[in-house]
Amino acid sequence: MPSPAPVIVWFRQDLRLADNPALRDAVQAGASIIPIYILDDDNAGSWKMGGASRWWLHHSLNALRNGLSGNLFFYRGDARLVIAELVKSTKASAVHWNRCYEPWRMKRDGDIKSMLEENGVEAKSFNGSLLFEPWVVKKDDGTPYRVFTPYFRRGCLKAGQPAVPLPAPKKINFADSPAKALSIEALELLPTIHWDKQLEPHWTIGEKGAQKRFAAFLDDGLRGYKEGRNYPAKDHTSRMSPYLHFGEISPRTLWHDIRARMVADHAETDGDHFLSELGWREFSHSLLYFNHDLPTQPLQKRFSAFPWVKDDRGLLAWQRGMTGYPIVDAGMRELWQTGYMHNRVRMIVGSFLVKDLRLHWSEGEKWFWDCLVDADLANNAASWQWIAGCGADAAPYFRVFNPTGQGEKFDPQGDYVRRFCPELSKLPDDLIHRPWEAPPLILQQAGVTLGKTYPKPIVDHKQAREKALAAFQATKGISSEQELS
Ligand code: FAD
Repeated sequence: MPSPAPVIVWFRQDLRLADNPALRDAVQAGASIIPIYILDDDNAGSWKMGGASRWWLHHSLNALRNGLSGNLFFYRGDARLVIAELVKSTKASAVHWNRCYEPWRMKRDGDIKSMLEENGVEAKSFNGSLLFEPWVVKKDDGTPYRVFTPYFRRGCLKAGQPAVPLPAPKKINFADSPAKALSIEALELLPTIHWDKQLEPHWTIGEKGAQKRFAAFLDDGLRGYKEGRNYPAKDHTSRMSPYLHFGEISPRTLWHDIRARMVADHAETDGDHFLSELGWREFSHSLLYFNHDLPTQPLQKRFSAFPWVKDDRGLLAWQRGMTGYPIVDAGMRELWQTGYMHNRVRMIVGSFLVKDLRLHWSEGEKWFWDCLVDADLANNAASWQWIAGCGADAAPYFRVFNPTGQGEKFDPQGDYVRRFCPELSKLPDDLIHRPWEAPPLILQQAGVTLGKTYPKPIVDHKQAREKALAAFQATKGISSEQELS
């Protein structure tokens, strides 16, 4: 008797075995399985993965392949062509995948679905990446939400609890290896200059690494999260973002584990706050789903006329963490050294770029895209628009973060700055966020020579803020002034 036709399980941003509905459905149907991954740079256009993401992906694919006892087959190129050829050569009866929400992927996946159906091959897609499908959470009048609080409180929370996570399959029956698969090295994900070595000590990549890190967060980070998450020197955030982006852990798993622990540990307020952060992730995905040009066009169209500045030197100083504002520089160096930056500091460096330097938010978006291990089209674009004041439910443009005040408030002892800007480490706490005000003797004792060992501020924040407000007013005629300190 001929063996039944295999099912191709196409892994994408769901690089895990637990709570993987596409995999689970194929296994439960009793099919033999061909697990594949396709590196499709052909369709990604300007949103090809950046360097840090590629580094992460390489290790994540390795981990997944181990979890599949070596049965993960790699391909490269336009996924339409790869899938068409694979279905033909393996005589697969179906292709399963979990849905992604980047516009280029949705377009491509739609084409693949039609192509498969025309050829009598079943195409089955599942929700493996979000708590709620974007098209489910809409206002009563059927339009998408533009403001977070009603989106989350009225839209998500009233939609009921997200589905309970599925267990990993106990046993997977693998089909014969398909033809023309590539080695992982042939995907060329690792950089040729080994800057990635510095990222390695900070992460254990893969499903097991995700589970371990999340368990540690539940034990040590959840209690006190609501307050603690604002302080970059504290270990009070989960660092789940890259694992969520690549799907090494599912948001449903986080949701239900948090709910269980917040009750058991009497950490309701902290747990609720964590769930609302997962809500921001959902909101960003909803914004991208309903606004395909979110990564390039301001949601508030009037910002198209904003007089952004072109300043290559300013941009370079920002990218390198050499602006002369310690909290900004520490953040940009954390990004470079670890592939991650604390959320509070992302907001501070973002505000500095778009308001103090008045550079277009897309410059920051592109740099983050290349350097973040959690670079995510929806979260990155929505957050940059939020910080620039041109997004949905955004901080208004005239709310300018004061980098010195923010540093003093959220890094009061300067521990975070000392970690990433060691050349300032000997300055006393009350001057570490404002070295330009330190008397010469204190600078000398701390071994700091401004302009030599550490830069002088590249802009005067007060003047820069006024220029930013003037630019905003010239376009809008809005005069409100407010500053976050
Ligand atoms: P936790 O505080 O532990 O939060 C848990 C999870 O909730 C996160 O892993 C993340 O998935 C989600 N989350 C938390 N805050 C946000 C938020 N503001 N928006 C959307 N989801 C959120 N996040 C990315 O995942 N990818 C990006 O490319 C990205 N770019 C950003 C750019 C800027 C300018 C800013 C201000 C924020 C950006 N964020 C991005 C959002 C946020 O900074 C990160 O999700 C968060 O810092 C990740 O750390 P964590 O996992 O320890 O967060």
